[in-house]
Amino acid sequence: MNFFLFCPVLVLQITRFNIAFSAKNMDTKPASINLFSIRLLKWNREKNTRKMPWKGEKDPYKIWLSEIILQQTRVEQGWDYYKKFTKAFPTVKKLATASEKEVYKMWEGLGYYSRCKNLILTARYIANELKGKFPEQYEEIIQLKGVGNYTAAAIASFAYNQPYAVLDGNVFRVLSRIFGVDIPVDSQEGKKYFTALANQLLDKKKAGAYNQAIMDFGAVICKPVTPVCGECPFKRNCFAYKEKRVNDFPVKSKKIRIRERRFYYLVITYRDKYIIAPRKEKDIWQHLYEFPLLESDQELNSRQVAELAVQKEILPAKTGNGFITFSDIYVQQLTHQRIYARFLRLKLDKKPLLPAGSQLVPGKKLSGFAFPRIITVYLSENLM
Ligand code: SF4
Repeated sequence: MNFFLFCPVLVLQITRFNIAFSAKNMDTKPASINLFSIRLLKWNREKNTRKMPWKGEKDPYKIWLSEIILQQTRVEQGWDYYKKFTKAFPTVKKLATASEKEVYKMWEGLGYYSRCKNLILTARYIANELKGKFPEQYEEIIQLKGVGNYTAAAIASFAYNQPYAVLDGNVFRVLSRIFGVDIPVDSQEGKKYFTALANQLLDKKKAGAYNQAIMDFGAVICKPVTPVCGECPFKRNCFAYKEKRVNDFPVKSKKIRIRERRFYYLVITYRDKYIIAPRKEKDIWQHLYEFPLLESDQELNSRQVAELAVQKEILPAKTGNGFITFSDIYVQQLTHQRIYARFLRLKLDKKPLLPAGSQLVPGKKLSGFAFPRIITVYLSENLM
């Protein structure tokens, strides 16, 4: 039986002719919708071999931890972090009582440090205000800092089998391709539409298994580039495949604009000690440590960087003799920004002025601090 005989054909026709589609349309043919989840769960049982350390986990704390790590992070990269975190902090109370420095150090390299800040705040909130008991209801889970619709649905369905459909990049992609939905996924209309569709398709009795299956399916079969259509259980019905338009879905309305920034770090040594300070501003890499930083709209050479540092009173005048090296350009790509960094290394004979909030740290102790990845790479190639 073809589950597209009813509702999905309607969906295709509706989107093709750009007529607004409402979830109400889908309510009329629940049987056809069930076939979608039946086929997905069958694929999951018989063909899905994707392994992940948190799969099948029922402890909401560990599910939450894995989901926060996986926000903006690939599974392969998050895997080791999850293991390190659950080993060091097996319970939410352990995480809540850890020092910020320790948690940030463990997070180092994962990026998007606001996640780490929220992780600490939420762990402390649960330990102190909720007596260490992780909330059980979706409506309570979504109130936690750093938890949005997707993460709340994942926790509620994986830990408690509550009927909330996850909606992330994988799900947008799978549903838009199969059903030929051309409403932009980054529009309000798109979010509303796909939320309704995802919740209609959800197998409410097996919400956890269904959610895991559709995410795995998007990661393993219906991949962003070169999906494995030949092995896909939906290929006979998939709109994008049949129309040879797989790369046209999902549709996005906005192009991300990338801001380019030039950072010049002053790696100042005095008696084998280095000046570092935590980043305080509301900007990228909050709470991570860095060397004194100069930012410029223009490309600068080493002399100009040193002059600017003197102007800003980071370096005393006449520091020319202490020049050691001026590095090549290091590049770090973030979602909305591209950072170009160069490191001017200087050795001073007199104790330097310490900018507010900074400290002098022996070279061998630098590895105990959490730095942005661009600095870690520089350190590993030059100082450690
Ligand atoms: S046929 Fe291809 S594009 Fe369609 S759902 Fe399957 S893998 Fe994705």
